[in-house]
Amino acid sequence: MTPESDDGSGERSSGDRGGTDGSRVASGGGVTPDAHGDADADADESLPADLVDADESLPADLVDAVVRLCKADTLLVAMDFDGTLAPLVPRADDARPLPASAAAFAALADLPGTTTALISGRALASLRSVATPPGSTLLIGSHGAEVWLGPDAAPLQLDEAAAERLDNATSVLKEVTDHFPGTSLEHKPAGVVLHTRQATPDTAAAAVDAARTALSQLPELYVTDGKQVLEVAVVRADKGDGIRVLREATGATAVLFAGDDVTDEDGFGALGPDDLGVKVGDGHTRARYRIGSPEDVPALLQAVLAARKAIRTGRE
Ligand SMILES: [Mg+2]
Repeated sequence: MTPESDDGSGERSSGDRGGTDGSRVASGGGVTPDAHGDADADADESLPADLVDADESLPADLVDAVVRLCKADTLLVAMDFDGTLAPLVPRADDARPLPASAAAFAALADLPGTTTALISGRALASLRSVATPPGSTLLIGSHGAEVWLGPDAAPLQLDEAAAERLDNATSVLKEVTDHFPGTSLEHKPAGVVLHTRQATPDTAAAAVDAARTALSQLPELYVTDGKQVLEVAVVRADKGDGIRVLREATGATAVLFAGDDVTDEDGFGALGPDDLGVKVGDGHTRARYRIGSPEDVPALLQAVLAARKAIRTGRE
């Protein structure tokens, strides 16, 4: 129904969303922009998009896609945290979800046939502490290397060789942070992260260059760039792996995934035609839909909540 696409064919809607005026015409006006005319024609038969009490800042084609998504028998709502549920902040420990996003996410977790999950680059312990998710929310941390599918799930255990690689990478990056003011390290069970958000742009760039050069001398590391971070993992995993694990664990027949960063592209790549990928913010993406910032995420989640509630109520 909604194949993911990276062709930039003009169906994306965020770039021209135009601030608060939006492109969505209120239902009372009786006009819905036909930005998505090739979408499945029966999508609106049982639940017209304008029944969904969505914030008008959401693009109309995204609201239509949400309604289609919410018809799934089993829905997984998987969200990135930093830059998606929570605005980006200089200190990672200070990040918190926007209250309206947290409230809608928690309400979704309570709906039948609906599972919520967070998929984050953070270590699980860090994710739990800043996100305080509902108890039933499944958690993927460290970009897929850490998985929490309930209290019986086994914690990540590194083998000896991987533990040694992690020690070596940590030593190298420690030297970098000693030399470049404003940079810092975050330690994870299967990786280490260089943070440069509090450094000047020149210092940040020099620190990342130095880190990359030093890390290139070490074997079997997976190094990825993020927003003002350089991630080093000793276990190969990405957010696409996270989506696949969650889909299998929950039996989801459709998945919503939203994320803002480069590493979320692996998650978008794991989505199928019945799923919905939403990029938050600017930048190239494989996601078919886009919203402007974390401040737009409450409207997205509220639309999913309203549509899911309406559809489940109609069914039961
Ligand atoms: Mg993010």
